[in-house]
Amino acid sequence: MVILDRLPTKDRLVRFGLAIDNVCGLCASSSESRDHLFVECCFAKEVWDIVLTSCGVCYTLTNWEDLFNWLIANLKDKSLRIRILRLAWTGMLYSVWEERNHRLFRRSSRSVDALVNSIKLVVRVKLSRYGKPRIDDVNRQLCLNWVLDDTEELSNDNGAGLIEYIEVVRLDRVRLHLHLHLEVEVY
Ligand SMILES: [Zn+2]
Repeated sequence: MVILDRLPTKDRLVRFGLAIDNVCGLCASSSESRDHLFVECCFAKEVWDIVLTSCGVCYTLTNWEDLFNWLIANLKDKSLRIRILRLAWTGMLYSVWEERNHRLFRRSSRSVDALVNSIKLVVRVKLSRYGKPRIDDVNRQLCLNWVLDDTEELSNDNGAGLIEYIEVVRLDRVRLHLHLHLEVEVY
């Protein structure tokens, strides 16, 4: 939905004729669109900066189009770095949209660090299904940055809890999906 620009961002709701403000739900200082919310917003930029730095990637964010094309061109191999980046990208899209909705509808907010930590947790849980990565200098640094040291412990000793956690994340996505539809109707 994000990639196809079908989320009910405020610019789209205004285009549908709804009488609402068009202010970004995260920074409140720019108009809200997909491109702004997920790339150009100062909040999203800070999250991206930490995610990219933690992946050891040097990339200057410009706009949605460039980022999308760059990700498509660079997310092909099966290295640990790319696996993390792929998971972090989807985690970032989900978390930023969730954060925007919490701020708008629940009057609660998280810091950039808290959001990044939630992305790291999801990346860590999902990667644990692949077992322990081959350890070289690059992967060792990635494990440190993404707190993957106890991946084995997660996959072996805490299997039931892990499956439960993944189910909760899935349920949360369904809830978010329903929530979005309700929000549109409420407007
Ligand atoms: Zn913003």
